[in-house]
Amino acid sequence: MKKESNVVRNWVCFGMALSVILPVVSSFSPAGAEGFNPLDALSKKATSAWKMPEKESCYVVQRQILDGLFRYNVFNNLKVDALTPAVLRTLLAQHYLEKMPADPGQRGSTSSHFKLSATGSGLLCTVHGALPASMAPDRKTLQAFMQNPCFHWQLNLSTAITRFNRAKNERNTKIDLALLARLVEEGYLSAIPVDPGQGVGSWSHYQASRGGIGVTCTRHGPAPELIPH
Ligand SMILES: [Zn+2]
Ligand SMILES: [Zn+2]
Repeated sequence: MKKESNVVRNWVCFGMALSVILPVVSSFSPAGAEGFNPLDALSKKATSAWKMPEKESCYVVQRQILDGLFRYNVFNNLKVDALTPAVLRTLLAQHYLEKMPADPGQRGSTSSHFKLSATGSGLLCTVHGALPASMAPDRKTLQAFMQNPCFHWQLNLSTAITRFNRAKNERNTKIDLALLARLVEEGYLSAIPVDPGQGVGSWSHYQASRGGIGVTCTRHGPAPELIPH
């Protein structure tokens, strides 16, 4: 039971770890509040209530877009090459994004300000400029996710749980067979994870973690953080 409560406690931090995209807000407290969803709370805080310089706010949004887009590409084995309105609508509808990106401080519909670019971080805003490369995943990190099958599962698992929690407005705090079965049944995962080379039942190697992308493997260790703090 002790182990279980550790998992639960770690999972509460899952949103914070996943929100790599978001700087930690000092006044933020994950305790309390019935039905509280750390992912959603952080997003809202960072993009609306929390006042910070407009350009930095734009970077937060850009990091959320990059995070969602990379997860979408990996899960679907795609490489989206333009951030069209249709792509943004898909990312939103499938809960890779929590809300339609809006350019901070700008009026009207501003999601078209965000463009993929061939240089730097790979994303820019037509008003606030390019996201610094140091705030985006680097090539080595991206390759690690693509080439290491265990890291690939960890990412898809963390993506699936994030999307599922957003879609259902739930706060699942434990990786167990019941949750995995629901994720598969509803199309958030292609199958119950198998830790590569470890056989049936090795889904239990995947556990919630405090750092990185919020999931780790007891055999291969945690995948790298997707987007640096
Ligand atoms: Zn901007
Ligand atoms: Zn593993």
